Amino acid sequence: MRYEEPVFRPPCEAGSLIIQATIGCPHNQCAFCGMYKMKKYRVRGIEEIKEDIEAAARVWPDPPSVFLADGNTIAMRTDDLVRVLDHVREVFPRVGRVSCYGGARFIRGRKVEDLKRLAEHGLDIVYMGLESGDDEILLAVRKGACADDYVRASEKMREAGIELSTYVLAGLGGRDRMRQHAVNSARTLNRMKPDYIRIRTLVLMPGFPMFEQLKSGEFQECTGREIALETRLLLENLEVEGARFLSDHISNYLPLYGRLPEDKPAMMAAIDQALARPENPLLGPRTITSL
Ligand code: SF4
Repeated sequence: MRYEEPVFRPPCEAGSLIIQATIGCPHNQCAFCGMYKMKKYRVRGIEEIKEDIEAAARVWPDPPSVFLADGNTIAMRTDDLVRVLDHVREVFPRVGRVSCYGGARFIRGRKVEDLKRLAEHGLDIVYMGLESGDDEILLAVRKGACADDYVRASEKMREAGIELSTYVLAGLGGRDRMRQHAVNSARTLNRMKPDYIRIRTLVLMPGFPMFEQLKSGEFQECTGREIALETRLLLENLEVEGARFLSDHISNYLPLYGRLPEDKPAMMAAIDQALARPENPLLGPRTITSL
């Protein structure tokens, strides 16, 4: 196995075998993201990927699931990704789930037939960072896609039969755009109809482009209390049927899990309970030690 570090995967893929099919991210411009800034994007050679799959099988012959890193493996040519998927399924015939990250920018223009081929060859779920459903925020953070692109990409995924798990980045609009971030993210998610809606919280670190905006005061970071209020507003405005809502990332303040719409009142009540305890240190201002 040859990993080019750092290697990232969604928290729910913690028990998966990770195979790097691509290195880095072909977009690599998001102002809040520093995950792949040190890597130049490339697709690894198919033979090299196959060798890694076989090497992994010698030490872990029966993984429950496989995650194809790095940041946007969906951007691979369909034929190449099909060959990788075929090899995964051949070497691990009992694998339960195969997944990768996939941005709307790399799906919106794809033919549904191509996505259907990926599904037929064993791609089960794609993790897509919506981050915000608000066009002004998406433009400000250089996401490279607008709300309509996300809706178009989601429709194609649904038609192809690939599950979609999407992330909303709490706090991404800062204090100035809290309300528009929450309301427009809910509005876009209502149009996207993803299978999973996952919350992560904005954490800006030195080296991230937005960290400079934070330092200069141009970007005002939300407090923990504001993040909770924003998440509540997002939930309140969600009108999706059958999606799971999860706050399952280490960056988050409150663990929330439920199915929409039936668990919405219980999740909102959990946020209200947390907000009713002003002494809760998690709800205070956030501190960045290196500022
Ligand atoms: S957030 Fe995703 S699309 Fe944006 S730079 Fe990071 S990995 Fe690439």
